[in-house]
Amino acid sequence: MSESLRILHAAAECFPLAKTGGLGDVARALPSALMKMGCDVRVAMPAYRGVQAALGATETVAQLRVNAVDFTVRCGALADGLPVYLFDAPALFDRPGTPYADAQQQPFADSAFRFGTFSAALALFVQQGAAGFTPDIVHLHDWQTALAAAWLAEWPQRPRLVFTIHNLAYQGQFGREAFDALQLPAHWWKPAALEFWGGFSCMKGGINFADAITTVSPGYAREIRTPAYGCGLDGLLETQAGKLRGILNGIDDAVWDPARDPHLAHCYDLRTVEAGKRANRLALAQSLGFSPADSALPLVVFIGRLADQKGADLLLAAREAIQQMPLQLVVLASGDPALEASLRGWALQSHGKVVACIAHDEVLAHQLTAAADLLLMPSRFEPCGLNQLYALRYGTIPLVRRTGGLADTVIDTTPQTLADGRANGVSFENADVGGVCWALQRGIELFGNPGTRAALRRNGMARDSGWGASAREYLALYQQLLPTRTGGPPL
Ligand code: ADP
Repeated sequence: MSESLRILHAAAECFPLAKTGGLGDVARALPSALMKMGCDVRVAMPAYRGVQAALGATETVAQLRVNAVDFTVRCGALADGLPVYLFDAPALFDRPGTPYADAQQQPFADSAFRFGTFSAALALFVQQGAAGFTPDIVHLHDWQTALAAAWLAEWPQRPRLVFTIHNLAYQGQFGREAFDALQLPAHWWKPAALEFWGGFSCMKGGINFADAITTVSPGYAREIRTPAYGCGLDGLLETQAGKLRGILNGIDDAVWDPARDPHLAHCYDLRTVEAGKRANRLALAQSLGFSPADSALPLVVFIGRLADQKGADLLLAAREAIQQMPLQLVVLASGDPALEASLRGWALQSHGKVVACIAHDEVLAHQLTAAADLLLMPSRFEPCGLNQLYALRYGTIPLVRRTGGLADTVIDTTPQTLADGRANGVSFENADVGGVCWALQRGIELFGNPGTRAALRRNGMARDSGWGASAREYLALYQQLLPTRTGGPPL
């Protein structure tokens, strides 16, 4: 019997232990999918407060000391058996808040040291073959783990290194004092390594030192090589284009399945989508404060982080026009305090048209996706985007800006795309008030036509958004990087 391919994934988030966005979903679902395909996969992440308790039983597998910080590495398993290594260093990670910010949403001032030290500990863990695990592939996600690529690249027997960019806008850029505090080698302070405009960029370390770079959609892989989307790294990415590819994210279709979703008042499938959505909407109406009399209006939802990227400010800029449209709007979002306050203010003055749920609420996200008719994503850029994939699966018609992964997954409705069975939503060009209003009006119009509505739902719900195809692409990439290795799961 062939030996399994050994893969270590490392990320700052892994659902359900820690998640602030798509990274957490991917760092859970991709390893699980690879495990189901026969690979020996483990995930490494920091032990934030409460994570150890959430994981349940663990055993200590390693003790490490890096930058004068002691790490205890404990191994446990998620519900499907996926092994997780928790890197426990209380001075760095045992604090209230999210992985990146305190309970008042102020970003932690020492994140360079926290994640830089975690990355160094990861590299040491791999070099020592701690826990008896010697990976063939170390797959690092985003800047918080990127320096592990730099450390491991210096090691002759290193495993192959894959680095995935989930969002180039968050690069982990810091100054010389952080570089010194992390005791990084002096020869990394140059543009061909980490140095970046007088400081250093962790993301750059991942890009320069990994054997392969991936990002989360083919569209975004093209965009980040251009000045408009490259965040200052487009030139470097262009030179590294030979090792860069886009692999579209999937979704965890066991967690996001309208036919089996435990969070829904009424489960449904393609046959029962019309009635199922109505029932879920009714179940939510009371808690959201909507009057049942308005339930004939299309329900539009926006779910996401309140950050410039996601374009929630465009909704606010379009509020006069939206107030006149025949719709109801629910925003489930948190982030920028000024946007939170503006959305709350709008909801209060909207005469019941708009509900602002300012929270990060996983359960409500499921319930709203099921109850909604239309999902709006006016993103200025979007590496992949998961909400539109959830929406498609739940028979909710996505209205998206034509960028990155949104452009790769949402097929605009035209006579041609309707005829050939591909149309599944609306995509619009401009991230401005005009674009948002056009998309909403178009969505309302398409939704109002029962035949078109049914076709869009059918096409969306039939789309295979699971991890199978993407995981196979990652597996093919790993195997290309290990040309001499035989065995492993069949492709
Ligand atoms: P990003 O990673 O840029 O935030 P994605 O679309 O890739 O965007 O992933 C966002 C994930 O976070 C989705 O699973 C989405 O449902 C979830 N999410 C974002 N904001 C909220 C919120 N306020 N409440 C619940 N879930 C949220």
